[in-house]
Amino acid sequence: MLAAMWTYEHGNFAVHQVPALSDNFIYLIATDDVLACVDPAEALPVVAACEKLGRPLTHILNTHHHWDHTGGNDELKAHFGCSIIGAAHDAKRIPSIDQGVAEGDALQLGGLDIAVLNIPGHTSGHIAFVIHADKQDALFCGDTIFGAGCGRLFEGTPAQMWASLQKLMALDDSTSVFCAHEYTLNNLDFCLTKISQSDAVKTYIAWCKDMLGKGLPTIPGTIGREKACNPMLLPAQADFRKAYANLHAISDDPVSVFTHIREARNHW
Ligand code: ZN
Ligand code: FE
Repeated sequence: MLAAMWTYEHGNFAVHQVPALSDNFIYLIATDDVLACVDPAEALPVVAACEKLGRPLTHILNTHHHWDHTGGNDELKAHFGCSIIGAAHDAKRIPSIDQGVAEGDALQLGGLDIAVLNIPGHTSGHIAFVIHADKQDALFCGDTIFGAGCGRLFEGTPAQMWASLQKLMALDDSTSVFCAHEYTLNNLDFCLTKISQSDAVKTYIAWCKDMLGKGLPTIPGTIGREKACNPMLLPAQADFRKAYANLHAISDDPVSVFTHIREARNHW
């Protein structure tokens, strides 16, 4: 049941990436003491990954309540007795949750300091986990930032989502972005057709085609590359914003430009 597993060393922890469903990624954060799974869409690939690693799952971290991020919660808890951590705000919608957290909480797991950020927009209770690492910081952002995209606004306003995206853009450029879906190339097609034909976008597309052609994921990306290429983040750049607003005869404030781009992506 384990289709593949890719591993990224961050110094004081490793991240194992496991594909699930049609285009989801599940992550396992590993230290000497802890094996914590982020957003188990389903249980079987996680059980298989734990068998391959030869150790039991100790925790589940959920970024938001959607079934393709929590579908494995009940089965994994029954199997491993692991403890489940999710947004306090959304405790009623997260299956078998043990511990509710919110921004400002210092979550300590296996010697790791994990920061929690509230990033509403895709859902009202969406949170992110940031691990400050010896080598390279890691962001687990669920369905908020994707490779060259962002989640749909199911429960939040554009202004809320924009504020959440800005919070993530404030992280170090080198931060690895572990998002929950492989949507990058499709998002870049939209970007190239409708939003930006920059060299950075073209280079990103060529890299994605190369990775996917080798059977490799385009995730994780980095905050720096997303700031340069992600059409949902480009409204942070004044030059881009003004040109885009001019072209579409809209106001050039960031939220108006973001709203217009998000709408265009919905209908693309
Ligand atoms: Zn979702
Ligand atoms: Fe999702």
